[in-house]
Amino acid sequence: MLQASYFDGQTSRRHAVTLGLQHGEWRLSGEQLQRRVPVAEASLSEKIGNAPRQLHFDDGAYCLIADHAALEAMLQAAGMQPHSTVSRLEGKWRYALTSFVLIAVFFAAAYQWGLPWAANVVAQRLPASLPALMDEQTMAMLDQYVLEPSELPPARQQEITQALSGLQPAQGGAMPEFRLVFRKSEAIGPNAFAMPGGTILLTDELVHLADESQQGSALARAQILGVLAHEIGHVEHRHALRQFVQGTIVAAVVTWYLGDVSSLLAAAPAALLNTRYTRNFEREADAYAAATMLKNGMSPAALADMLSNMEQHYRQQETADEEAETAETQWLDYFSTHPNTQERIARLRGQSGKEVRP
Ligand SMILES: [Zn+2]
Repeated sequence: MLQASYFDGQTSRRHAVTLGLQHGEWRLSGEQLQRRVPVAEASLSEKIGNAPRQLHFDDGAYCLIADHAALEAMLQAAGMQPHSTVSRLEGKWRYALTSFVLIAVFFAAAYQWGLPWAANVVAQRLPASLPALMDEQTMAMLDQYVLEPSELPPARQQEITQALSGLQPAQGGAMPEFRLVFRKSEAIGPNAFAMPGGTILLTDELVHLADESQQGSALARAQILGVLAHEIGHVEHRHALRQFVQGTIVAAVVTWYLGDVSSLLAAAPAALLNTRYTRNFEREADAYAAATMLKNGMSPAALADMLSNMEQHYRQQETADEEAETAETQWLDYFSTHPNTQERIARLRGQSGKEVRP
């Protein structure tokens, strides 16, 4: 303990205090004054001749210490350098770290919230004809590379289309506009995919997978309709469009930063195709599917079963593909990775319990 003068940094009033240094804290006590300040929040001036040393606190208050010998003994006892370097450096590091963290938090927040917000705003202002055009282009591209005409009997296609169109929306209003298209694709496998303009692609392979596990029963129908209701959920919430705009914004920022304009043009279709729905989008689409299924007398567990079968199919596929990882299989990763499948299956099974309630 030593005697020092304390100033609050706002008035010129001097307070006589005793100053101690314990457990990494400067401890001040005087008349009507008790303060504890972590060492890291204070900096001590260098010793210059016999002038009192200044102990500055982050809030602008400071102490003048004239008793050099007592101060140095106190610093040494606390394991600190008798000179100020250490505590001052600690203070600076703290600022540097704080500002680094703040910058990181700012960018993370901009990416997490600012980007989806901006994408939503842009998506709502796009001309209405654009999403339809995007569907057309995407289908043309997929047809050229990975899709073949469906081999499902026309009667089966019609049955699925009619069942889907006949679904009652869960919350009043109407279903969003959509157009169901059938294609066969060994490359994509059992899956369905909603495009920005409301085109929903359903593969023969998904229908076969449902049929195999259920032998054409009403459950197979519920599994297929569950997946399609999930895709309609994506259409209802304009997920594909928002995700596309988001991808394009990211590509634009990256291009602006790297200064290569041609890559922006290349990135636009890739942004759509490489898009992965975020967790929230999946959750929204699942909730939409579950509500729609319950409303129409089906159990969301059927969708959970279907997801589980798809996951199993893709896992087997993955093992088979592992030896020959080609550009094509990477490109097709989109279709096989609806994220967090286990989590989604569990949630859907939980929701299926609701149907037994009165
Ligand atoms: Zn989805």
